[in-house]
Amino acid sequence: MTETGTPAPEGAGGAGGGPRPRVSALTRSLRFDGGGLALDLVATLGRRHGDPVERLDGPGRLGAWCEGVSVRLEEGEATEALVAELRLLREAAYDVASAGLRGTVPALTSVALVNECAHHEPPAPRLESGPEGVVVARPALTGRQLRSLVARDLIALMADPVRRAGLRECAGPHCRMLYLDGTPGRRRVWCSMRRCGNSAKAARHRGRAAADPA
Ligand SMILES: [Zn+2]
Repeated sequence: MTETGTPAPEGAGGAGGGPRPRVSALTRSLRFDGGGLALDLVATLGRRHGDPVERLDGPGRLGAWCEGVSVRLEEGEATEALVAELRLLREAAYDVASAGLRGTVPALTSVALVNECAHHEPPAPRLESGPEGVVVARPALTGRQLRSLVARDLIALMADPVRRAGLRECAGPHCRMLYLDGTPGRRRVWCSMRRCGNSAKAARHRGRAAADPA
């Protein structure tokens, strides 16, 4: 919702030179539809090519993000310092993933930071057997282990030619979120229909109404 109380879809305001898009609660909300841990971290900065919207704005938000990506931090690990470290890793991950998408070369500092984070060993994945069947254990992580998981997820994505070929950038002019298109024909152009897809539909409708006022 905006200050005026009306819902503002992502990207409302039109492309190139239009009024500044409103920042709604939906715009500020965390994203868990990037297609993986690293891309979900990258998506904690919205509208990075315009007026960026910081969605990872403190330890509370970090806790919510961890919940959304099904990881658990050790007691006391969700600190401002970890938020700052994750933001640095996020920008390096964005640089690497967007370079992968465009076929360009990321900054050496981005590659070095991802490698440095991945160097630390995260806990081994583990199954647990219970009355309902097997479940994947969620050991509590240190901040360093969380950064390692994110970095390793990004490296695994870059190493997999099939998944890497599905990297896309949302066509929403203000959004431009990176996501993995896992649909069979890979013709998805929006990060989500509910967000940018609907905004584009509404903009087309407004355009038609303006062209044909009768
Ligand atoms: Zn989008």
